[in-house]
Amino acid sequence: KTLRVALMGLGSYANRVADAMKDAKRAKVVGVISGTPAKITDWQKRFSIPDKNCYNYENFDAIKDNGDIDAVYIITPNALHHEQCLRVAAAGKHVICEKPMAINAKEGQEMVDACEKAGVKLLIGYRMRFEANTLEIIKRREAGDFGDIKFFQGLSGFKIGDPNQWRLDPKLAGGGAMMDIGIYAINGTRYMVGEEPIWVTAQEVKTDPEKFKEGVDETITFQLGFESGVVASCLSTYSMGNLDRFFLNGTEGFAELQPATGYGPIRSATHKGRLDLPHETHQTTQMDEMAKIILDGKMPKVPVDGKDGVKDMKIIDAIYKAAASGTREEINLS
Ligand code: NAD
Repeated sequence: KTLRVALMGLGSYANRVADAMKDAKRAKVVGVISGTPAKITDWQKRFSIPDKNCYNYENFDAIKDNGDIDAVYIITPNALHHEQCLRVAAAGKHVICEKPMAINAKEGQEMVDACEKAGVKLLIGYRMRFEANTLEIIKRREAGDFGDIKFFQGLSGFKIGDPNQWRLDPKLAGGGAMMDIGIYAINGTRYMVGEEPIWVTAQEVKTDPEKFKEGVDETITFQLGFESGVVASCLSTYSMGNLDRFFLNGTEGFAELQPATGYGPIRSATHKGRLDLPHETHQTTQMDEMAKIILDGKMPKVPVDGKDGVKDMKIIDAIYKAAASGTREEINLS
């Protein structure tokens, strides 16, 4: 069976996902939700989408009565995800939502609750959780190749361009680099270390308050602590190009990924030598695996569900709190 997906928000990442889905075996673009009629016409041609599977932001609740659509993939600005997810769930369709799932943990939890109540699945677009190099390193960590894990470094950033884009508007972005790219270091810390953090300290640096307004973080360094004694040292920024590195060290050796989360190819190594497993388009693999989760009930070992997304949101809430207070903040992910 194939997962029949409608994409909501036809921007740059939606185009990447839709193109990648052409090669998917279990997932297909069958519908669109957009506020721009010209984009709808273009997508109808590119993906052979019938008129009855096209919606706008006012009328998409009617998707409830559309038997041709199994799931809606929300790929809109961050602050819109919460309300859109609640409406899709109420329409009885499964939700795939881009990261960050929401702009805080409270909203994220409401999304989880709404999907549970509606009896639909909620998955977050964490494509790295299906990536071969990443999964191989996790496997080797579990096999004890690196000994007892002691340290992780996650550096995630890019240099943001156009000052007028929604990513720099706190109302639509819900924050700055942390919401957008820093979340990769957070999510990566959790799957690379294999444990949940219990405290955080954080420091914020802003060199351009004109571009990075109140509520939009430019650069934040943060440290996460774990029950076992592991420490993680991370950086999130909108001001450094080509910053994408994960480094894990234990009592016996190391693993590194650089680039760690870019669209690929991911490059990887351990203390024993280079890995560099072959590249597959992340979004193709992700959509095939998500189809298995939704249609076959097969959740992967490293989860991508809404509950897992809420953990990242709780950590982001704590990072912002720690950066503001200058003190160590506890994190409770249970
Ligand atoms: P984008 O600006 O290219 O696209 C956003 C789309 O949302 C546009 O088509 C825009 O028209 C539409 N939109 C609907 N309502 C809007 C409103 N009120 N204001 C502004 N735009 C509105 O952005 P993008 O890069 O495609 O990012 C969209 C989402 O996808 C974000 O949550 C982002 O974090 C996520 N994303 C994830 C990845 C990944 O690798 N997983 C990569 C890029 C983006």
